[in-house]
Amino acid sequence: MSLTPTSSAAHDPVDVLVVGGGNAALCAAFTAAESGACVLLLESAPRDWRGGNSVHTRNIRCMHDAPQDVLVEAYPEEEYWQDLFKVTDGITDEKFARLVIRASSTCRGWMRKHGVHFQASLSGTQHLARTNAFFMGGGKALVNAYYRSTEALDLRIRYEAPVDRIEMDGGRFAAARIGEECIAAKACMLAAGGFESNREWLREAWGQNERGEWPAKNFLIRGTRYNRGVLIRQMMDLGADSIGDPTQAHMVAIDACSPLYDGGISTRLDSVTLGIVVNRDAQRFYDEGEDFWPKRCAIWGRLVAHQAGQIGYSIIDAKAIGRFMSPVFPGERADILPELATKLGLDPDSFMQTVQDFNAACLQGSFDHTALDACHTEGITPSKMHWARPIDTAPFYGFSLRPGVTFTYLGIKTEETAAVRFGGEPRANLFVAGEMMAGNVLGKGYTAGFGMAIGTAFGRIAGAGAARAALGSAHAARQAKIKEARHASA
Ligand SMILES: Cc1cc2nc3c(=O)[nH]c(=O)nc-3n(C[C@H](O)[C@H](O)[C@H](O)COP(=O)(O)OP(=O)(O)OC[C@H]3O[C@@H](n4cnc5c(N)ncnc54)[C@H](O)[C@@H]3O)c2cc1C
Repeated sequence: MSLTPTSSAAHDPVDVLVVGGGNAALCAAFTAAESGACVLLLESAPRDWRGGNSVHTRNIRCMHDAPQDVLVEAYPEEEYWQDLFKVTDGITDEKFARLVIRASSTCRGWMRKHGVHFQASLSGTQHLARTNAFFMGGGKALVNAYYRSTEALDLRIRYEAPVDRIEMDGGRFAAARIGEECIAAKACMLAAGGFESNREWLREAWGQNERGEWPAKNFLIRGTRYNRGVLIRQMMDLGADSIGDPTQAHMVAIDACSPLYDGGISTRLDSVTLGIVVNRDAQRFYDEGEDFWPKRCAIWGRLVAHQAGQIGYSIIDAKAIGRFMSPVFPGERADILPELATKLGLDPDSFMQTVQDFNAACLQGSFDHTALDACHTEGITPSKMHWARPIDTAPFYGFSLRPGVTFTYLGIKTEETAAVRFGGEPRANLFVAGEMMAGNVLGKGYTAGFGMAIGTAFGRIAGAGAARAALGSAHAARQAKIKEARHASA
């Protein structure tokens, strides 16, 4: 194979090439640069849109055995692991999961060192104060802080640099290509996200349903438009081992008025548990009060995806107002229920029947939205286990819901070293982290804050591995020198 470097970047020696510009890529880039490697980071987005889905995040799930800075009480390893096991229905890998969980207990110090600030959880982020550390200013501030911190290191960044090809030579990474341009490096680390923004791939993965619909046509993408899975596909074509079901993803039911890309967290609709949700036929289809919303929001995207037209309608009455975060879009409002049905485009007779059946099935109890209360239904399918109160107090409100894809789980199979594998054999100088390999831990389901925990843990592992692969014995000598210096100053 002949490599013909054409870029100015390619003329400078690159030890470690990092592909991607979100959390996992930045964690890897820091680690490699701090190990003495000369790093080039290639981000496909323009500078203003840098950072991928990481800019939309708010928190990271952290294990801790006692109260620590912004985290209250304790969240031990075993409880974290059990939470993950439950949400994934056991489709996870305990070895990987525990590695991420343990790394989450120490990552905040490292993140602070690179400019990230944390804050205690705000009201409206109920139930997460114990388990999740919130970024001051959200993911956008985190990403900006990380990019600022790169300035102090031997770390170059190129924006609008979408890698479309990886070249291997004798089983080793040789170069990345951006069209005709070829950038060679001693080692490479891939962190280019999932394929959630590739609507053609989503369409292919979800196929046609029994109604003849292509469900993915109606999906909205909650994050960046740049995660098109180009390198997942390319690595699979080259023979890299893959993992995960292409239809599995974190999917939230979001406001149907949201933009196609980058709506972010503000498009989430938190009214579901306080009322009922009906489909296009004005029928209920799932227990809206099964559990607290943060534990259930990630299943509602799929639930809506399986309904006709991939649409649902969250219906509430005046009693619910003030009990959930106000939606960005106003929805429909009416003083009588048939008028609300008409405004939403639902058949008023079917809608009234559904509401009447539901209201009649509600057993009045003491309503408490902060607990799994006793307000439930009886004699109706699906039941509503908690927070079931008749929809009877005007004005009434309706919000339409669409499946919102957060990130996909199909990715590259790896191991604890974050090495990319071909036929079960790890490659010595090619690594992967973040969404591109999240499927190794997440077979299905999700628990809030775990995406950043995966990217931070594996980004650092991959960065260290890539630096070792690139610098070889020079790296070992440098590490020995650092240890010696530490020993001398102790
Ligand atoms: C709305 C929303 C809210 C979220 N909230 C949270 C939260 O609070 N906590 C949490 O843990 N997780 C959250 N997540 C999930 C979290 O964003 C991801 O798990 C995490 O950011 C993944 O990091 P990453 O670096 O792997 O991918 P990304 O941050 O998406 O970065 C991928 C990068 O690769 C670049 N790229 C793509 N293709 C190429 C290419 N061919 N060449 C070069 N560059 C390329 C992209 O431009 C992007 O910069 C949220 C996601 C969304 C969408």
